[in-house]
Amino acid sequence: MTSKQFASRFEPNPAARTAELRDAILADPGFGNHFTDHMFLAEWTPATGWADARVVPYGPLMLDPATAVLHYAQEIFEGLKAYVHADGSVWLFRPEANAARMQRSAHRLALPELPVDWFLGSVRALIEADRDWVPAGGEKSLYLRPFMFASEVFLGVRPSQHVTYSVIASPAGAYFAGGVQAVSIWLSADYSRAGAGGTGAAKCGGNYAASLLPQQEAADHGCAQVAFLDSTEHKWVEELGGMNLYFVQSDGSIVTPALSGSILEGVTRDSIMAIARDLGHEVVERRVSIDEWRNGTSDGTITEVFACGTAAVVTPVASLKWDGGEAVSGDGEAGKVTTDIRSALVDIQYGRAADRHGWMTQVLPG
Ligand SMILES: *Cc1c(COP(=O)(O)O)cnc(C)c1O
Repeated sequence: MTSKQFASRFEPNPAARTAELRDAILADPGFGNHFTDHMFLAEWTPATGWADARVVPYGPLMLDPATAVLHYAQEIFEGLKAYVHADGSVWLFRPEANAARMQRSAHRLALPELPVDWFLGSVRALIEADRDWVPAGGEKSLYLRPFMFASEVFLGVRPSQHVTYSVIASPAGAYFAGGVQAVSIWLSADYSRAGAGGTGAAKCGGNYAASLLPQQEAADHGCAQVAFLDSTEHKWVEELGGMNLYFVQSDGSIVTPALSGSILEGVTRDSIMAIARDLGHEVVERRVSIDEWRNGTSDGTITEVFACGTAAVVTPVASLKWDGGEAVSGDGEAGKVTTDIRSALVDIQYGRAADRHGWMTQVLPG
């Protein structure tokens, strides 16, 4: 069954918050704490395809305890942001890339692919309904979280025959409220995030579940994030729990671990390749060993390390720590290449720089 062309109905929230309350939230939204007045929902079955697209009042989902996702974690998600430009218009950054990745994730988790026009239509419909919730100024944004899960009430182990797709939205403050800060990262010795043939390249909740214990270990060692190596040789740098990695070399080139099948292909990672080239850097995707990271930062071959993802855009890595050692990148502060790449990307997202790559999609007029 092919899904129909996208169209959604709208049920306004009779208990929408007042402008006063909303403005108080938007003044200091934090991240992931507050949600807008509406949410998007659609349902899939083999008989109907994708159907029943609707924007409804934000609220709890009623789930039968036997709902498949609660038992077998057949679930995927996406994350992207809406940005307000100086003229008040609202834009998305590369939403087609998120739509395409959600289809790849769906394939791996044996979920039905959501057509690209449904993905884009759902995000647009929610932003239109909650247009007053897109925060302007600073590096604020409206974080959009599309997700899809097995909603069939059935304990047998097979792909769900009822699937629910939803989008929720959460106003987000500047990730680095007090200026961009370099973070320390813990190298996980005992755990892997994903394995060969596993779900590492899919954006699924299960990958995050696997990263929480090592993430806690990182926090216990005073580190903000955890870095994972490949699961087979325990030698090759993969990524952090939710961010990809880049290494700036003394010859000006920048290196990122090549996609291995267990690395999540970040939209930010991909965008940085183009931006770094625009800025005159050679960009190389190849395997990076943990020894190269350790030795390179101490002998000066690696001058800067940074992590990237939609939430923080670019996060400078001050040092890598492990049991009995530490590898400090550069002088432990945000480096120039890292800062320049971050600014170039953020300037495109907020409409302050020309969109040379055709990455921005307008959602609302100014
Ligand atoms: C989402 C995610 C990223 C970053 O992807 P972006 O598209 O840049 O936000 C990196 N690693 C993992 C594991 C992720 O889930």
